[in-house]
Amino acid sequence: MTIDDAPREALRGGPRELLRWVATGAAVSRADLSRLSGLSPSTVSQRVEALINQGLLEETGAGRSRGGRRPRQLAVPTGGAVVGAIDLGAHHARVGTLDLSGRVVQGRTLPVRIEDGPEQVLGALLAEVAALAAAPGDATASGTASSATGSTTAGALRGIGIGIPGPVQHSTGRIVSPSRMPGWNGFDVAAFCAGRVDVPIIVDNDANLMALGAHRTAHSELDHAVYIKAGTGIGSGVISSGRLHRGAQGSAGDISHCRVVADPAPPCSCGNAGCLEAVASGAALVTALRDQGVPVSDLTGVIRLIDDGDRHATALARQAGRAIGEILAVVVNFFNPQVVAIGGRLADCEPLLASMRATLYERCLPLATQTLLIERVATGQDVGITGAAHLVIDHVVAAN
Ligand SMILES: [Zn+2]
Repeated sequence: MTIDDAPREALRGGPRELLRWVATGAAVSRADLSRLSGLSPSTVSQRVEALINQGLLEETGAGRSRGGRRPRQLAVPTGGAVVGAIDLGAHHARVGTLDLSGRVVQGRTLPVRIEDGPEQVLGALLAEVAALAAAPGDATASGTASSATGSTTAGALRGIGIGIPGPVQHSTGRIVSPSRMPGWNGFDVAAFCAGRVDVPIIVDNDANLMALGAHRTAHSELDHAVYIKAGTGIGSGVISSGRLHRGAQGSAGDISHCRVVADPAPPCSCGNAGCLEAVASGAALVTALRDQGVPVSDLTGVIRLIDDGDRHATALARQAGRAIGEILAVVVNFFNPQVVAIGGRLADCEPLLASMRATLYERCLPLATQTLLIERVATGQDVGITGAAHLVIDHVVAAN
């Protein structure tokens, strides 16, 4: 269950990095790996053999000759082994299977009623992952399904990564005091799932999964990054020295109950008032609009109003962007990341993004923002399951 938390320097040329270089196409041979890692050919060969024996790498035909015997090419198997992933949201879950390079083989979006409780919700999602893994060619059974690679080969499930929209104690896989998840507090997700499927289960919060998925996909060359997930709830994931930073208990990056300037300060589910979640989350925008007499039922309705230029909704989106920017400015001054990226359903709201950006520049030290990239997370709906898969892949490689 525990992920190897060795510093990044110790991973240079480690099995995970070798695997990643092959998966991303940076290396196709042992010679490439030796050049990239600075390791001796014999050390690289040893590690490659171990990865091949574990089914994590395979040899495919011959590569280009440089005069002598033609070298065999290395590849990540795309059909022999798959990873399951669940990215649970407030109203929907994205489930999928991915190959060992982190590419989506199948993805499917399912409606979820979080209030049905953990046994029912997770039981159904696990069954869905098992069905996808058992019949990976059937990618079009639902209107929201997609197949990114067209792979049709069934593979053995190597593990399942699960993202939860609330605080997760990473070391135990237990949910701790989530807001808007009645019946889930204290639930041991890892133990529940381990009793139903016989593969490693890795549990984390949804913002960490988004951070890992976005970092591995778009920013793997950057060492320090902050990813904000702004949807129904609000949270962030932190990449420090190239790896996910969870802190002592797994709550690092949870900015939802940081206090922001708001008058009047709206009450928060945690018992305090004026928390970021109570001002700037999608749920807060729904509540605030309703309080103003605007008939809106959910976040989709709010986003539609903002897109239509509704003045109440737009003003609230700006206020939310300022509030996120205020907290983020503290984070940026303190942590000095190379990139801040915002994802989640509110990331497409232009007024929110503009005021977040302006507040960041206004409140940050010039040195912290001089080369800071401020972006949208561009990976789309599969970013969470991609992060979940990478959690499992890292675990599988570390465990072997
Ligand atoms: Zn709060």
